[in-house]
Amino acid sequence: MKPLRWFPLLLLLPLLWDRAAPAHSQAPAGEPTILLADEQFASGPLRDEPAVRAFLQAQGSFLASATLEPVKGIPMPAVQSLVFLGEAYSVSPALLLTLADMEMGVLSAGQPTRAPQTLADWFRQRAMILSRWFYDAYYGIAGAPNRPSPGGERVPPAGNAATYALRNYFFTHVYGGGEPVAALAAWEELLQRRYAATFGPPLGGKARLAPPTPADWQELPALRLPWPGGEVWHLTGGPHNFDGSKRLPLSGVDFQPAEITGCNPPIAADEWVVASAPGLTIDYQTHWVKLDHDGDGDAATGWQTVYGHLAYRIPDGAWVRVGWRLGSPSCLGGYAGGVHVHFGVKYENVWQPVEAVRLSGWAFERGEEAYEGGMVREGGVTRQSCYHSEQPLMDCTHAAVVSDNRARIRRTGFGLE
Ligand SMILES: [Zn+2]
Repeated sequence: MKPLRWFPLLLLLPLLWDRAAPAHSQAPAGEPTILLADEQFASGPLRDEPAVRAFLQAQGSFLASATLEPVKGIPMPAVQSLVFLGEAYSVSPALLLTLADMEMGVLSAGQPTRAPQTLADWFRQRAMILSRWFYDAYYGIAGAPNRPSPGGERVPPAGNAATYALRNYFFTHVYGGGEPVAALAAWEELLQRRYAATFGPPLGGKARLAPPTPADWQELPALRLPWPGGEVWHLTGGPHNFDGSKRLPLSGVDFQPAEITGCNPPIAADEWVVASAPGLTIDYQTHWVKLDHDGDGDAATGWQTVYGHLAYRIPDGAWVRVGWRLGSPSCLGGYAGGVHVHFGVKYENVWQPVEAVRLSGWAFERGEEAYEGGMVREGGVTRQSCYHSEQPLMDCTHAAVVSDNRARIRRTGFGLE
């Protein structure tokens, strides 16, 4: 039985789920199988803080009022943390909660079964490692197919990035002995059943996500620098990943208002981060704004731009034009050495390399280390990131960039002049 063939069965006869054969169990070694659709892995059904909060409260989970650390040393409410991790690492809150429930009973237990710090570290570290495997497969640079299965039959190849990531996860963090293929099959069956019971069909949505084609890139609207026209901001972070490593994708860059240094005060209340292109605000997070540029409200389709570390953010469901205010830059919502905005681009809710993006004609170049590098414009004009690992933000004059976004903001119902 091929995995995709029993998806309709799931829709029609959900009660038969327990009796159905697991998708992978009868697939011959060598035939790729899919355990979880890539769309469920990267987006899933719980995408914003209100949805996660409502879900945890309905479950009676202690996580509804717990604290986690999506960035080490920076505690946030678990609801906010789960959406942050989902956004930063493209590992959906639904998947993280399913795995956490299988290993620690976080949805069923009335009380946490792990110490708070252990729990906080679990969510951060598992999201990070799952993300690395997912992106390795997404960019086609995955290592040997799955993990070795010593002495046993071969594990069937993974049919998508989610399956590759989850199988590596199993053999690295879950596998406790026994015949590897049988142990994996039992775990995959349990994962699919738990996911289906809680969140719906694990094979729902797009089975495979892949980097955008040249035709897809044509659909990304022209992007402007994300602060008001005429203002000078500094490039304080060249291309970097969320885990601080040089691993792909180097999806983000950081900009800071020129007159601002450090995090005291933590919000630049008189400064504004503005839209790079027209879009719809979606996927509510306390300190992050996401614009959906195809306007269908679904991050799993089309292009999005993401603006991190905002205070006084615009509500979701607003259609904004280029240059309209999204919020004030701040040190909130993740790690920040100074008040800034973290800017990045997603396709189908998956981060894309910022080096493939142009902002007001500027291109980005990676440096030797994450956060280094700079910007270059036609004619050879360059700006180097003023990130210094030893002495942060000492001298940023070589990183000054003037925005050509809209200079004056019209009345938008938000952030009026
Ligand atoms: Zn950043």
